Amino acid sequence: MQNGTLYVVSTPIGNLEDFSFRAVEVLRGVDLIASEDTRHSRPLLDRYGISGKLIAYHDHNEERAGERLLQQMMEGASVALISDAGTPLISDPGYSLVARCHAAGVRIVPVPGASALLAALAAAGLPTDRFSFEGFTPRTAAKRRACYEALVAEPRTLVFYESSHRILDSLEDAAAIFGESRTCALARELTKIHETILRGPLSEVLQRVREDDNQRKGEFVIALEGARPMPDEIDAETRKLLQTLLDELPVKQATALAARISGVKKNRLYQLALDLNSRQ
Ligand code: SAM
Repeated sequence: MQNGTLYVVSTPIGNLEDFSFRAVEVLRGVDLIASEDTRHSRPLLDRYGISGKLIAYHDHNEERAGERLLQQMMEGASVALISDAGTPLISDPGYSLVARCHAAGVRIVPVPGASALLAALAAAGLPTDRFSFEGFTPRTAAKRRACYEALVAEPRTLVFYESSHRILDSLEDAAAIFGESRTCALARELTKIHETILRGPLSEVLQRVREDDNQRKGEFVIALEGARPMPDEIDAETRKLLQTLLDELPVKQATALAARISGVKKNRLYQLALDLNSRQ
């Protein structure tokens, strides 16, 4: 292990076998392991023969513990940061420690592995070329609804973390705000015995969760299809094309040519052309 380094190490999100060889090696070799909950981490570490010294690092002692850890790394200690499950900093503590290390010139080494976010996305069957991770939904109904409303037009796939206490209300709100036909993939208890992935229109997923108490137990990731473009919406590229043609040609010709190139109906482009011309 390199001295004066912070290793950010992912741990399993359920199935204890989802622990990389490298993660185990790093945890065996470091001087200190900063863990969100030392009692929670111990059984996992014991299982892999990791006997390193555990130090508590969580939301409530972030400032003080972070300062001490930074000091130790600056004096040459190698430290690994782990959270209760998955990847540290992903809806888990660590951000301020990593930022401080960068500022102090301490080397940061990520040791990637499980994360509920990526496991859910990989199994959701929704576009993943771009997505927006929204973390935990707000706790109160009013704030959750406001959050959903602000995302209604977001075209990227949306991913939320949700707790079992709020899963039903959260899906009810999602169906009311995003619309019942939006495709949802609800990933529950990933990598564990009761793993389930319910996928379909929000109305159907909601129905399954309403009918079956078991579907409200455990840990959840909600993945939602992004907003679909309006079928007759004129995209930015076509607007640009029309504008370029309008700079050189009369409205009728520019419209006809733009319609031929883009496939958008002539009368829609004609309206837009008049609009664009009137702004010049
Ligand atoms: N850092 C973790 C990660 O990389 O996934 C996330 C930690 S966050 C405090 C815990 C939340 O992640 C849970 O409430 C749940 O929404 C989601 N989560 C964690 N493990 C999960 C699992 N096995 N199945 C489904 N969701 C899970």
